[in-house]
Parts: sequence; structure tokens; C-alpha cells
Amino acid sequence: DSEKKVRVRFAPSPTGRLHIGGARTAIFNWAYARAKGGDFILRIEDTDPERSTEENVQVILNAMKWLGLDWDEGPEVGGPFGPYRQMQRMDTYTAALEQLKASGAAYPCFCTKEQLDEKRAAAEATEGGYAGYDRTCRDLDPAEAARRIEAGEPHVWRLRVPDDHGPIEFDDAVYGHMSFPAEVMDDMILVRSDGSPTYNFAVVCDDANMAITHVIRGDDHLSNTPRQILIYEALGRPVPTFAHLSMILGADGKKLSKRHGATSVEEYRDRGYLSDAVVNFLALLGWSLDGETTIIDREKLCASFDLDRITKKDAVFDETKLDWM
Ligand code: GLU
Repeated sequence: DSEKKVRVRFAPSPTGRLHIGGARTAIFNWAYARAKGGDFILRIEDTDPERSTEENVQVILNAMKWLGLDWDEGPEVGGPFGPYRQMQRMDTYTAALEQLKASGAAYPCFCTKEQLDEKRAAAEATEGGYAGYDRTCRDLDPAEAARRIEAGEPHVWRLRVPDDHGPIEFDDAVYGHMSFPAEVMDDMILVRSDGSPTYNFAVVCDDANMAITHVIRGDDHLSNTPRQILIYEALGRPVPTFAHLSMILGADGKKLSKRHGATSVEEYRDRGYLSDAVVNFLALLGWSLDGETTIIDREKLCASFDLDRITKKDAVFDETKLDWM
């Protein structure tokens, strides 16, 4: 439905500072929302308690504010809006799991880590190699499964990938038509034995419940997308449009690292760069207005940003450009 209001989100994990790649993703989402008169949502993906810290949340929020990327919603009614935080949304994941249990699309798996490791090692030694979870628990007698849960046996919840599912296809706004065979999709874990949702499950529950229309994110998530589509289907929710952004590489063609310059927004701020210049610089990493324009301010960006001018080619990071912006 092309008439639907555009709703996009930026979903950083507070496991470190706001990286240049993350900042670019945030800028693209924000600019797209502004260009289309849509909503931009900030959602903190803090479900990994070991690596997430409140300090990092604050660092990310400060970086967003410094970049001038304002968001439109939050859990508090009336604002000022805090960002959404996944840890405060556990009820929604529980409700979604209940739905999948009731429909039979989720099933409990009692295999221990040791059992799975052993099977994986054995499978890897064979010619075909490891082909994923062997579905031991997929067809357990429901009464037996219920009894084991009742008895307190640790278990995860997995997605039952339909046997007769054809290829999983989608039209990526950057990569074009994508197709993945369903046979290679594991019956992935949705909820871990401690009750916490996995990334793929939480992200789909949130994107569905928040009525996200376009998921714009790094292409390191491209292989998660068919898995997430299976979850949308199981939940009976509409699948958003995906736009995967190519990597940002250093001038030497290698993955961006400290060697290439500052890699977090904070470092640029501390070095005295103007946030206008940093936004200008990042906006042009993998997107262009017309292939020529090198100076673009937020206003112009918000008036003109569109997905069709995102390039599939890896963006090359040349920090020296910042000095003349
Ligand atoms: N927290 C994930 C990340 O930082 C979000 C991925 C997504 O946008 O779905 O990579």
C-alpha cells in the first residue's frame, strides 16, 4: 500500500559508541522519514545484558542529538520522548510467542547445548557438513513436551519452518530481487531458555507492532532478512520493505577500522568538527543527490532523500574530505 505513512527506525545496540556506519544508517532513516512526511523511531536494542550499558545508551543519545537527528515517538505519552527500549517491551515478545505456540508455529526444544555441539561436530565430519539443527524436538508428542515443561526441564522455543515453503523472496530497495531457499533455514530459536527473545524474534515483533514500513539497515543483516520474513509470516503480519546498506570501507578497500581515522561520532565531536559537516559527509557515504553535489545541508537532505539513490557499491571512507566540508 503506497499510501501508507512511512515509518522507519534506527535500532542501535548499546554495546559501544555510535559508530560511523551506525550514524550513517541513522541519518538515512531520519532523512527518509523527513522526506516522506513519515515517522522516525529510535529503538535501543538492549536485550544483550552482558554487552549493553546505560552509559552507552547515553553516549548514543548524545550523538543523535549532536547530529540533529530527532525522533518522533517514545514510550512516554506527550514527550519529551525517551527512546523505546527492548528491555521494556518484554510483554510484547511474550504475547507474540503465545500466539505462535497456539498456532503451532513455535515448538519447545529440550536439546542441551552439549547435545547440539556434539551433533554439530559429528555432522561437520561428514561429507555434507553441518546443515543446521536436526529438528529432534520438532515432532515430539505435544503431551510429552507439555509434561517436560511442567517438570521444569530447560527449553528454548523454535520456529517451525513450514516443510513445503518455497524460496523466500523479497525486493530489496538497494540489492534488488533476493531469493533464499527455505530448506537451508534452520528452525531458529525465538526465545532462549532464560525467557529472553533472540535478535531476530525481538526485531520482528517490534517492527511489526510499530508498523515499520521500511527497514533500512546495514547489509550485515541481509542473511537475517529471510529468517525474519519467516517470522512475519508465522505471525501473519505484513512484511516491510527492506533496504540494505553496503559496507563502509577504508580507502584501501579494507573494513573500516581505527587505522582509517576516527570511527565514532564522539571522536569527531571531540576533535572539533561541526556536526553539519559530519552529517554532510556521512549522508554522501553511499547515497548521492545527483552524482555531483558534495555540499548538502540537513534541510536539503530532508527534502530530497530517497532510496533509489543509495548505491549498492561499497562506500569508501575518506576522512580527508571532511576537512573541506
Ligand atoms: N541492533 C541491530 C544492529 O545494531 C539492529 C539491526 C536492525 O536494524 O535490524 O545491528
